[in-house]
Amino acid sequence: MQFPYQLAAKGTYSLKNVRLETGFEYDEDEVIMTKTDLFSIEIENGKIRAVKANDPTSDALDAKGFLMLPALRDLHIHLDKTLYGLPWQALSPKRRTVKDMIAYEQEIIPKLLKTSVERAEQLISLLQHYGTHFARTHFNIDPT
Ligand SMILES: [Zn+2]
Repeated sequence: MQFPYQLAAKGTYSLKNVRLETGFEYDEDEVIMTKTDLFSIEIENGKIRAVKANDPTSDALDAKGFLMLPALRDLHIHLDKTLYGLPWQALSPKRRTVKDMIAYEQEIIPKLLKTSVERAEQLISLLQHYGTHFARTHFNIDPT
């Protein structure tokens, strides 16, 4: 499945009305506000080629003043244990300790394996949709 944000990442294109951080306002030594301004940005094969003064009259894609941020990195995620895409489940008061969770995971992970690829793909797509381009995932390795 391909989403609109993935299509826009290919080729060469320009954005206008892109908000970028330009500095801070201080009250003595304390940062009290972020300064921003609007810019035009040229993208080539997924990389920023140029940042220029904003040209709101150009035919570039309109970022509508949204803040452009660097891609996000998720450094601790468990793609094998996600329940994303499954019916919602409440936390059980029976699972309070690490020992409880280990016993619970030994029970559920073999069941989750049947749909792990689909759930992991859905979760990766969700991460990408919200700007995460790097994820370091952890997996359970145990006899079950
Ligand atoms: Zn963890």
